Amino acid sequence: MSQLIIALSKGRILKDTLPLLKEAGIELLEDPEKSRKLIFPTTHPQVQIIIIRATDVPTYVENGAADVGVAGKDVLMEHGANGVYEPLDLDIAKCKLMVAGKVDAPPVRGRLKIATKFVNLTKHYYAEKGEQVEVIKLYGSMELAPLMGLADRIVDVVDTGKTLKENGLAPLELIAYISSRLIVNKASYKRKADLIQPLLQQLEATVNAKKHAVSA
Ligand code: AMP
Repeated sequence: MSQLIIALSKGRILKDTLPLLKEAGIELLEDPEKSRKLIFPTTHPQVQIIIIRATDVPTYVENGAADVGVAGKDVLMEHGANGVYEPLDLDIAKCKLMVAGKVDAPPVRGRLKIATKFVNLTKHYYAEKGEQVEVIKLYGSMELAPLMGLADRIVDVVDTGKTLKENGLAPLELIAYISSRLIVNKASYKRKADLIQPLLQQLEATVNAKKHAVSA
């Protein structure tokens, strides 16, 4: 019997994906937030869930080390993720990818300095606009960079905007609306269609039902 490996990451994605998987008959047998394990069996005898860093999910799925994964569109844009199918928008962990800067910053002369963990997509965004910028890679707390004079702007994901506001920053440009996507390894999509197709159909039905419940 073939096995299906689903790659998830801790935090928002795990919290919002588990209820969707439950509707598809897949439930974890133990709470990963309380465990140091990385591989988890589920109530479905052919399905295992691995918990990895969000930015590693496309890499595992692209290489077939996981068959299916859930990743934010921001992570997929940054990674490239050309080697995977992206058949379903799960409509969870929604936020906006934005350029932000100091509220009262004077106009910048010369090249803008942009601090971000999304180096590739930031370079791509400014290249499309025909603007020459200097991109500075950070691993966290991007909001601090303009305050300390490290950068003029940041590129980051914004939900309520509270974090920006509390640090004297304001959103300036919208780059993209973000949500989490189901991604599937291309070979697995064919070879494990017996497991993947029902999962896809059930997830799609659940996502649609949720959307209609909200809009009703
Ligand atoms: P905010 O609600 O705008 O104050 O967002 C708080 C922090 O959470 C920000 O610094 C973001 O980096 C992060 N964040 C917001 N939405 C998401 C998301 N959907 N996925 C991952 N991180 C997020």
